Parts: sequence; C-alpha cells; structure tokens
Amino acid sequence: MSLIATDFGIDKSLRALGLADVNNGTSTGKHFFGSGELIASCSPVDGALIGKVSTTTREDYEKVITAATEGFAVWRTMPAPQRGEIVRQFNDELRRLKEPLGKLVSYEMGKSYQEGLGEVQEMIDICDFAVGLSRQLHGLTMHSERPGHRMYEQYHPLGVVGIISAFNFPVAVWSWNTALAWVCGDACIWKGSEKTPLTSVACQNIAARVFAENGLPEGISCLITGDYTVGEMMTHDDRIPLVSATGSIRMGKIVAQAVAARLGKSLLELGGNNAIIVTPDADIKNTVIGAVFGAVGTCGQRCTSTRRLIIHDEVYDKVKDALVAAYKQLRIGNPLDEKNHVGPLIDKDAVARYLHALDKVEEEGGKILVEGGVISGEGYESGCYVKPAIAEAENHYEIVQEETFAPVLYLLRYSGDLDNAINLQNGVKQGLSSAIMTNSLREAERFLSVAGSDCGIANVNIGTSGAEIGGAFGGEKETGGGRESGSDAWKVYMRRQTNTINYTTELPLAQGIKFDL
Ligand code: NAD
Repeated sequence: MSLIATDFGIDKSLRALGLADVNNGTSTGKHFFGSGELIASCSPVDGALIGKVSTTTREDYEKVITAATEGFAVWRTMPAPQRGEIVRQFNDELRRLKEPLGKLVSYEMGKSYQEGLGEVQEMIDICDFAVGLSRQLHGLTMHSERPGHRMYEQYHPLGVVGIISAFNFPVAVWSWNTALAWVCGDACIWKGSEKTPLTSVACQNIAARVFAENGLPEGISCLITGDYTVGEMMTHDDRIPLVSATGSIRMGKIVAQAVAARLGKSLLELGGNNAIIVTPDADIKNTVIGAVFGAVGTCGQRCTSTRRLIIHDEVYDKVKDALVAAYKQLRIGNPLDEKNHVGPLIDKDAVARYLHALDKVEEEGGKILVEGGVISGEGYESGCYVKPAIAEAENHYEIVQEETFAPVLYLLRYSGDLDNAINLQNGVKQGLSSAIMTNSLREAERFLSVAGSDCGIANVNIGTSGAEIGGAFGGEKETGGGRESGSDAWKVYMRRQTNTINYTTELPLAQGIKFDL
C-alpha cells in the first residue's frame, strides 16, 4: 500500500472505508464494477494520485445486469417495511462512517470538509426519510360506478433503476435515488462520475456489506465505473425501465433522447442558472451572506450555485460595495483546512472554462469588479485553485445565459417594478433555483405567484443554494423537469396499477354498455 496523502488523515479514512488497495486497482468489496482498464483518481486539493479503479467492460456490464435482475426478483417480494429495515441498517453504517466518507468526498471532489460531512448528512437524512416512507407507499381507493365493485390503485416496484451521477455531489445524489428506489423495491445500478470513482466504490462497499449481512443478493446494489460510454450501456438498455441522470444539460439531452427512443422513463436533474433578486426592501446584510455563500460555496460548483444577482437601482451600489468588501475576506486554499472558505475547482478543464467566462464577459461589454485568476505557489500546486470573481453584466450576454460551473457572479441591474426583475430571472433556458430578498410581503408573494419565478425551487430571504431533503428537488425547462428526494418523488421509482374487483354474480360493463349474449 502506498497511499500518498497523509497530512489530513486521508489514508486512515480510506482504510476505514475498505479502500486500502485502491491504488493498484484491486477492490476489497463485493461489487461488480469491472475488469477493464484502470482510471486514476487524482485529488484537486494537492494533485496527488489517491487511487485507481478498474472500469466496466461490456462483458462486466452483462454480469451486472444479470445480477441486478436476479436481485430485483428477490427484493421486490420482501415487504416494503422490511426493505426499510435494511435501509435503516445501511444508515447506521453511514452514521458510523460519516467522518471518513465526508473526508474522502472533500479530498476527491475538492469541497470543504464541512460540506463533505454535510453531504454525508444528506445521505443520512434521506435514509431516515426512506425508512418512514417504507410504511407509506400509499395508493388511492376510488368509488366504482358499478355496483358491487371495488376500485383502487397500488404501486409496484419498477425493476432495475439506472443512476448516472455528477462529480459535484459524488455520494448524496446516489443516495437520494437509491434510498427511495430500495424501499420502493427496485434494484439499482449506479454509474458515478469518472472524476470521483473512489467515493462511489466506498459507498458500494457499505451497501454490499449490509445486503450480504442480511443474506440478500448483492445485485440489489450494483456499481459500474467509467466514462460516458459506460453510462450509454444503461441508457440504451431496455432492461432498465428508468434512468435517473444528474449532470450537464448537454448530457441530459443525449440521455433523454436515448431513453425515449426505447420508450423508457428518464428522471433528469440538469444544470441551473440561478438568480437572487434583491429589492429595495431587502435586508442587505443577509443578502450579502446568502449571495457570497451561494456564489463561492463548493467553489461555485453546485447545481444551485448563485450565478446572477438582479439588484434594484436604489440599492445597487450599496450591495455591490458590500459584496466587493466581503470577497476581500475570502480565504482560498486546502478545503480540508477549516480556516478556508473556498477550495479548488475539480480539474484543469474546469479552470479553462472559468478563465474563458472571464474573458468572454469582458468581450461582451461586461466590467470585472473583483478580479479572477488562477492561484499558484505553495499549497496551490494542483493548479485548480482560482479566485472567485464578480462582473457587472447584462442578462442577454451569451456567457450570462450559460451555466459556468465556477465561482463567477454576474451583477445585473433592474429598475422600476418587480416584474422587470422577474423577467430577467426567468429570461434564461435553465429553471432550477431562484430567490428573492425582500421584507415586503407583496413582493415575496408576487415572486411565488403563478406570474413569478418559473423555477423548481423558489426561496424567500434565503439564497439559491442548499436544499432540504424533505422537499421534492429539481427544476424546470432545460434543467430537465425531474424531481428527486422528498415529498412524493418516490412515485417515479414505481409503476402504478389500477385494480377493479367485481364481487357480484353479474358482469356489468362500464359506461352502462349492454352486451347481452
Ligand atoms: P456531466 O454531464 O459531464 O457528467 C455527469 C454524468 O453523466 C457523469 O457520470 C458522466 O460520465 C455521465 N455522462 C456524460 N455523458 C453521458 C452520455 N452521453 N450517456 C450517459 N452518461 C453520460 O456533468 P458533471 O460535470 O459531472 O457535473 C456538473 C453538472 O451537473 C452541472 O451542469 C450541474 O449543474 C449538474 N448537476 C445538476 C444537479 C441537479 O440536481 N439538477 C445536481 C448536481 C449536478
């Protein structure tokens, strides 16, 4: 074993997660991820190689789908509350391993240790939710129009669910899907991001152990690894009735078309271009806290990150000055060091896209207010650390219309009525998260009304980023329309069946039709 990062207890965390051998591509867990070529996982924190993971070949994939199908046949017959009990045990393991898993998330993805722990906490929360849900997979009972008939609807498991996830929430998004899909009675195959393969293996190890300890088939939870070509094996596979895909809009368009071509279902959680409207009635102190956290948290790599601030003329200069002052306080550096606010971007491609955005906004007529740039020198050797930037811009700029997955915040000005701000907020193709900062009840309610925000998430007096698992999570327009997590999002993982039972000696037909023989 020759693991490289030792300073922040990473090697200890890897051992706790059963990943001691990952650096030579072998696995210690009972999972199916593959026998193909190795992919290296290098940390954006210090550039070190953390480990290598073998990828899934076509032959491996066939074994995985067979195991998942067999696992499903067993799992679906287990009563839902008993499936909930397995999720409860899985959750106990998450609680036990919260710190090592949170640390690995931080080191492999680059988000702060606090955010890594927060991500594991989201896993814990959704499992708690799923355990309760396992006793509440309710259908409705209806009154039949025919005498002596009973009519009701029930939900059955769908089958093998495919999950494709993004690098920025390398573990939470998987758990949002699996915790619900498992209590619903589905088997899951997960393709995590090729940029964060070790966290996927760590999670799969935990799940495999819990299923094995309960004498259940390991195929109920499967992992496949690799790039988009491995994801495509699932999107084109008609043995997978539902593909839940989280990632870029570009990816979502390809996945949606592939799945639709075989009339499968897809659940899409794609990019956002989230704005906060700041009205003259806003609390400026809270606005600045919400905007800065939203724009620079996770180094601007959340789907709900704040990309645009739409500020009323009357408070524009005040908000601008407070933001510029706040950005001067930001500490950028190793995210495992809790003194730092901002960690690295995921890789050098992301750095190039960030630099392109800064050039482009100026080219289109924008004005940089807080300079960006790549940070070099001791502690920044990975080349992935950048300075959060602010630019004054206009909503119609091409670069403002796009989601740049980096800490670049655009300030947009509005005057007059709130409708002008709402038009700007809605004037992009994405529709994930939105917020208004105001102490006016009228403005808040207008923002939430039918003529207000067109996003899946609309907040008042909190920022755009961060969501609780109790609500349904997802967005409209090019964000894909999917909903995961709380509320009644579970229904997408099940098939609905309407049942009519005749307990008479007659056979009356619906709509009063007579068919006498
Ligand atoms: P990405 O689209 O590059 O990759 C996401 C996943 O899709 C990866 O596992 C990748 O291998 C896979 N993939 C890519 N092309 C595919 C194809 N043709 N067929 C099958 N699978 C394919 O995204 P990323 O860079 O990892 O993540 C950042 C993006 O994810 C941002 O746009 C962000 O907004 C979005 N995101 C959205 C949500 C949400 O809930 N709405 C949550 C997290 C991230």
